[in-house]
Amino acid sequence: MDSVRENICRVREKMEQAAVRAGRSADAITLLAVTKALAPEWIEEAIAAGIPTFGESKVQEARQKISLVSGRARWHMIGHLQTNKAPDAIELFELIHSVDSVKLAGELNKWAERAGKTQRILLEVNVSGEASKFGLKPDALESTLERTNAMPRLEVQGLMTVAPFGQDKQKARPYFRQLHELGERFALKEFSMGMSHDFEVAIEEGATLVRIGTAIFGERMKAEG
Ligand SMILES: *Cc1c(COP(=O)(O)O)cnc(C)c1O
Repeated sequence: MDSVRENICRVREKMEQAAVRAGRSADAITLLAVTKALAPEWIEEAIAAGIPTFGESKVQEARQKISLVSGRARWHMIGHLQTNKAPDAIELFELIHSVDSVKLAGELNKWAERAGKTQRILLEVNVSGEASKFGLKPDALESTLERTNAMPRLEVQGLMTVAPFGQDKQKARPYFRQLHELGERFALKEFSMGMSHDFEVAIEEGATLVRIGTAIFGERMKAEG
């Protein structure tokens, strides 16, 4: 198994090359290391290799890990968030990628107010329409944005999607393109799209945040998950 440090170098190189192909600056793209189901020691290894930002998909698991990791790290929520976990999410995460209803946004706004915080969020959109995926329907985005933009404690910065998984990463391209077009229509700046197998395509289509687990941590993710 390659070391986490080597894997990070390789991912950064591919990010750079994809950015160049798209005529973009790699500095505008954040690499989010996804550490769901991984022990804190791996997070510390990634911190030591220069990764500052981590993605978790479960609130409880994240809370425990955040308390155990000794290095300085920033945390993003990338998994489905239940309304009753809103207060925890406000406390723990700098950016919540997975806001998929006005109801959840309303709860986050309420708890952000109580915490005296402005919460940065992304709206998750199900561009592929797959029944197994979370996210707003694309045609619900405009009305959802109207409502969430009116919530004073939320700052809606952009959109997130998970493309259908397939061997052929090019098949993800139309979904990334569609997310980017949707966001541009509403002058949004952040696009969280692209995972281990398709992040280069996502960067070519405008990703500003890529969420990468397996390409950094390898089979450990499955072994421990
Ligand atoms: C697990 C996960 C990732 C990372 O997936 P890899 O294929 O391991 O890179 C990215 N985004 C979300 C929403 C995830 O749940």
